[in-house]
Amino acid sequence: MRLQGKRIFISAAAQGMGRASALACAAQGAEVIAVDINAEGLASLEVENAAITTHVLDMRDGAAIKALAAQLPPLDGLFNCAGFVHNGTVLDCTDADWEFSFSLNVQSMFHTIQAFLPGMLERGKQTGGGAILNMASMASSVKGFPNRFLYGTTKAAVIGLTKGIAADFVKQNLRCNALCPATVDTPSLRSRIASAADPVQAEKDFIARQPMGRLATVDDITPMVVFLLSDESRFVTGQAVVVDGGVTI
Ligand code: NAD
Repeated sequence: MRLQGKRIFISAAAQGMGRASALACAAQGAEVIAVDINAEGLASLEVENAAITTHVLDMRDGAAIKALAAQLPPLDGLFNCAGFVHNGTVLDCTDADWEFSFSLNVQSMFHTIQAFLPGMLERGKQTGGGAILNMASMASSVKGFPNRFLYGTTKAAVIGLTKGIAADFVKQNLRCNALCPATVDTPSLRSRIASAADPVQAEKDFIARQPMGRLATVDDITPMVVFLLSDESRFVTGQAVVVDGGVTI
């Protein structure tokens, strides 16, 4: 069991990579605390694995994050997975779009890390250290994509945030990495495809940009999540880890 004895908090855990990560971490022995705004999705996650505890939490609500952190015992691992994909160029982006995406994709991480880090550092003195993992994307400082102006900007900020935390706390055995997946088959990707003018072509276009000729599945991504939250990655910090099926070869 690669995460035995570890207490791990995961956001956006009702569906997609967050949910798959919660299940993968629990399968490796972790005590998982899963949060999302989708109460129904969380309830079915608890049914799927009774060892996972869930809380309805809006990651845009800094005060609610702080209040929940104050109730929970200290963590070993924190996986900030929540994020939203804005579609469009700079000319399509409103101030409200900017505020929403930065609030969910970046500020939520600032709030969770500020709330949980003191407990993680304290617990790390006994356990040998903790790990933070922040969900970025291949669309970020790694690579530009059409119609991902705001999304890529926020995910580049996630990489900067990650490196800053890693640099500040490396001496206290706290590691912080970012994960940069390619296009992953999740419910939100399916709704982006469905809302395109030509959904069949949209799916073909998503697949065409992946050299392996297919979308990633959540199971292509979760092994890296488990690795980066486990002690196996003890010498890895401050990295933007790309899992992209060869897009950036
Ligand atoms: P998804 O988008 O299908 O699901 C996201 C989950 O986040 C949902 O359960 C939703 O209820 C929850 N959520 C939305 N707003 C929330 C809020 N305010 N507070 C709490 N939870 C909230 O899942 P996904 O596609 O696996 O994406 C997860 C993360 O991975 C996101 O950060 C996304 O940007 C990133 N990502 C996705 C892809 C992809 O192709 N799917 C690729 C790279 C990175």
